Amino acid sequence: MGRWVIMAPERALRPVHAGAPAEEPDSAPCVFCGGQEARDPTEIFAIRPPGTARNTPGWQVRVLPNKFPVLRIEGKLTREGVGMFDMLSGVGAHEVIVETPDHNLELADLPEQHICAVIRTYRGRMADLGGDERFKYVLIFKNCGYAAGATLTHAHSQLIATPVTPKRVKEELVGAQRYYEFKRRCVFCDTIRQETQLTRDRLLLENDTFVVISPFAARVPYEMWIVPKQHSADFISIGEAECAGLAQALKRTLLNLREALNNPPFNFLIHTAPFRRTRPGYWATIQQDYHWHLEILPRLTRMAGFEEGSGFYINPVPPEEAAKVLRATMEARSS
Ligand SMILES: [Zn+2]
Ligand SMILES: [Zn+2]
Ligand SMILES: [Zn+2]
Repeated sequence: MGRWVIMAPERALRPVHAGAPAEEPDSAPCVFCGGQEARDPTEIFAIRPPGTARNTPGWQVRVLPNKFPVLRIEGKLTREGVGMFDMLSGVGAHEVIVETPDHNLELADLPEQHICAVIRTYRGRMADLGGDERFKYVLIFKNCGYAAGATLTHAHSQLIATPVTPKRVKEELVGAQRYYEFKRRCVFCDTIRQETQLTRDRLLLENDTFVVISPFAARVPYEMWIVPKQHSADFISIGEAECAGLAQALKRTLLNLREALNNPPFNFLIHTAPFRRTRPGYWATIQQDYHWHLEILPRLTRMAGFEEGSGFYINPVPPEEAAKVLRATMEARSS
């Protein structure tokens, strides 16, 4: 089926286990708080004033290895056959991007310039891990709220570098490639044109560099995509003006979601093309046919037997309706 499963028995020791509520205290100071650096002196990267030492206060954004990594950085990438099955060593990277030293702020509460610094950190980490021959992909994501998988409340996002391209990404890559073969156009660029020029009923927001839409046939209620207007397969290519545009779009979208739906749990994730240096040219049109984007998936419904068994999604809120609600909230705020 082309599925990979990461066997991670040691993750049973995580602070939150099988349905229990968050055990980590919801109050400051936690291990991610400014001033608590000595509790986790494993800083991989930080945006901090020049002259300040690693693992000391003063930072704006700080990156740490995940304490309970899904994949481990140490070791060689080995591929072996076990009879008819395939096994790959669990090599990868799992990092936490602490978005602010302030325990009481969420990403959406930060000034746009600070969100920009978080985005630059994503870009920098992706570039760094892209230099590691073992990795094919880096998925950047955020879990916000217990139902969305967050185990700590302090604002943070995560990244996982994997030795294979994730299945979900592969599905998008294949779809985009097929569309391109057929039409010689990028499906995401076409989507932007459609949603801004032909119909505007799923359009939520537009600035100089990004559009935010609730996509056609959204999988979950209030699903939103933030898509760069400038065609690019790789998130890593994001420039300064686009960083600012993304920070603005993300802040507004997340504030809007919080207001419209009473702070729902959500995930967001960045979909970008896989690293292509290992097998140059193996995907000749990826530069033209794929287009990076950020997906926001509120956690308002649960998957049940039919969805699990069929791969269908059941969405009680069509994206056109979701867009109406979100736009109304946005207008109420700005007036
Ligand atoms: Zn904290
Ligand atoms: Zn495009
Ligand atoms: Zn995607």
